[in-house]
Amino acid sequence: MLDFQSILNTISKVAKEQSDKGSVANYIPELSNIDPNKFGIALLDKNGSLYQAGDSNESFSVQSITKVLLLSMVFSMIGDDLWNRVGVEPSGDPFNHLSLLEMENGIPRNPLINAGAIVVSDILISKLENPKLEFLEYVQRITGDKSIDYDLKVATSEKKTGFRNYAAAYLIKSFGNLQNQVEDVLDFYFLSCSLRMSCEQLVKVFYIFMNRGNCLNNNNYLALSQVKRINAIMLTCGFYDEAGEFAFEVGLPGKSGVGGGIVALLPNKFCVATWSPGLNEKGNSKLGMLALEQLTTETGLSIF
Ligand code: GLN
Repeated sequence: MLDFQSILNTISKVAKEQSDKGSVANYIPELSNIDPNKFGIALLDKNGSLYQAGDSNESFSVQSITKVLLLSMVFSMIGDDLWNRVGVEPSGDPFNHLSLLEMENGIPRNPLINAGAIVVSDILISKLENPKLEFLEYVQRITGDKSIDYDLKVATSEKKTGFRNYAAAYLIKSFGNLQNQVEDVLDFYFLSCSLRMSCEQLVKVFYIFMNRGNCLNNNNYLALSQVKRINAIMLTCGFYDEAGEFAFEVGLPGKSGVGGGIVALLPNKFCVATWSPGLNEKGNSKLGMLALEQLTTETGLSIF
């Protein structure tokens, strides 16, 4: 029997001792105030046993991790029609890159880069009466935790400085792949990125991707084939131009955010979340990647 608790304790101890923790994102001013010494890890297995170490109960800005949840909500609503608006290929580019968008007529490469999540946000705005509230309630319902909320300070901060996202949205709009006004779409997108969650809450919401579309309370949110597709997209696109490196080092589908969080999962076995605010040069949490590499190497558990 694997002793997950003692493995997480060791990983957390090793992470806290590292001197090079990467650099905290500062292009969203409100994110730059975070203590780079934070480190948390939580693991939830299929049976519902939860293991935690470090700052795993402290909430942080999930940022791009929200893109998987936006994707899951829209996919469960409109099914495969989604793929007329956004692709499923890795971009091999940074999360906020624009050149492929121009070359490929405003159809973003995949839903996990900014451009793709902006298109997904546009669809949700068109389909939902109150997208901000309904998306939040969707996340709360899956997790079974009504305390999860947006961080308006972070959303406002990004609204003032998210120039590349405005550029991407206008480019997409110029190709006719955005139905709503750029301001309205980005207002929703920035707010969705500002969701605050802890590692413990993140493993609970990602449980549905690990457990065939069913949450901890056994309610179903996605068809099995949809779970397969979302996990495939996480594996190939979840870490931007470092997706290959993450598959190589860690070997699990997952998603990162510039708030320093990473969530990953082994289908039918466990999901795991880490938080360490310092990022590497690709915008992924430096110690989070190291921790997950340690976890899958030590336990021998990965999709490969
Ligand atoms: N809200 C951030 C942005 O749009 C999300 C980026 C990220 O976490 N990689 O730039």
